[in-house]
Amino acid sequence: MKKFLKTLIPFDIAKGLTITGTHFAKVFLSANRRKVPFHVVSEYPEVPAKMQPRFRGRLQMLKDEAGEIKCVCCLACEKICPTQVITIESGKKEGRKTKLPTRYDFEMERCIFCEFCVESCGFDAIILNHQFELAVYNREDMSLSMEGTFQNMFGVSPVAKFSVADEEK
Ligand code: SF4
Ligand code: SF4
Repeated sequence: MKKFLKTLIPFDIAKGLTITGTHFAKVFLSANRRKVPFHVVSEYPEVPAKMQPRFRGRLQMLKDEAGEIKCVCCLACEKICPTQVITIESGKKEGRKTKLPTRYDFEMERCIFCEFCVESCGFDAIILNHQFELAVYNREDMSLSMEGTFQNMFGVSPVAKFSVADEEK
């Protein structure tokens, strides 16, 4: 009889719906209490994806407020890189006390995003930015330099159309 009743009344479905409903209400109410938008779905690619602060994307060189390259060619990043994807040549510039890179090549296809290079830099001259759309059609576009036309070591590349928010570019 009990078995027969079970087939008539969908207890298990009701139980499942109750659990789901309870969790939904919890999330919905807590989101409203904290006055945050009730968004659980990322609207990528229409809206650029917001990565977590510690996300490791593509290697990028930085400039200071005056537009000067921060790198002083200590070669720490080149030496520590386990896959040897960084090649630096140094030079001098009139009026600048420290050395300046005349060449900073980065072979992205072999980068393992370990961030050793960034950690070893004592001048905050490089970062791994938030760009995760790194696919390109030509292998050559994986080779970045200071002068690269398609993508270079400064700023994010055009392929980061949806992966980096405007304020981070
Ligand atoms: S993230 Fe790692 S592999 Fe990539 S360039 Fe830096 S040290 Fe080399
Ligand atoms: S560790 Fe920093 S300052 Fe030294 S060569 Fe690399 S980017 Fe330049």
